[in-house]
Amino acid sequence: MTGRVLVLGSLNVDLVTRVERHPRPGETVLGDGLEQLAGGKGANQAVAAAAAGATVAMVGCVGDDAGGAAYTARLSGRGIDVSRLRVCPGEPSGHAIVTVADDGENSIVVVPGANDLLDEREVTAVDTLGPGDVLLVQLEVPRAVVCTAVRRAAARGARVVLNTAPYAALPADVVALADPVVANEHEMAMLAEAGAEPRSLLVTFGANGAAWDGATAPAHAVAAADVVDTTGAGDAFCGALAASLAAGAERAEALEAALAAGAAAVRHAGAQADPRL
Ligand code: ADP
Repeated sequence: MTGRVLVLGSLNVDLVTRVERHPRPGETVLGDGLEQLAGGKGANQAVAAAAAGATVAMVGCVGDDAGGAAYTARLSGRGIDVSRLRVCPGEPSGHAIVTVADDGENSIVVVPGANDLLDEREVTAVDTLGPGDVLLVQLEVPRAVVCTAVRRAAARGARVVLNTAPYAALPADVVALADPVVANEHEMAMLAEAGAEPRSLLVTFGANGAAWDGATAPAHAVAAADVVDTTGAGDAFCGALAASLAAGAERAEALEAALAAGAAAVRHAGAQADPRL
């Protein structure tokens, strides 16, 4: 039987404009164009899991603003259960304000907004999970909430996939409950430095593929000319991995599905395919 994927995490509205160069403090420059794109690690991974065929529910918070409403409609339009997205009155949805300069350098201000307001209410969504289901989490929402959700999901027999991005230290028992912890090279180094001991560790190495508890698998080759934007490769990887595990796949098969999704993600701009909100 195919299990469900429950993603507890962030949603961000990315506002992107282009500038000749970044403003100095106190200075104003003109931006060229303004795009509103879907981002946030939680929702990126939920969309990737749904694209891989999983039954997905997204658990998180949005503000009572147009961006939050547009994002909720977007997820719902992709077949994702949004009934556990909570609207927080008087709070903005999470935003990332991105300026891209002609030299290719980005500068980004992240406004966590409603993503900071996840609490015990969101954790109760985990109580619908059981064996065969997957809880997929990242660290762009309050850590204490993630930890409680992980412990509760594991106690119910669900599988926990924990993406340690952006990196933050976690209690040892939470790290040990995940199967797997998914980390990129940078996060892996910080896990090692913190003395963390995952029971199951999947490390991604960008164009060099991934390794799950030492079993390496090469990336699916993408010609340099076809690499458009590596943003969100890790999210696509995690979403597809969770979908495959929920469908009952063994490690090697799930890893292949994740590598394929990661490779596909670098071929398009933005953190999600067709990201315009
Ligand atoms: P993150 O985006 O979290 O930093 P990585 O850069 O390690 O993570 O990328 C995650 C996965 O995406 C990789 O394991 C690989 O499967 C895929 N990927 C990333 N960059 C490339 C690339 N240039 N060619 C093919 N696959 C890639």
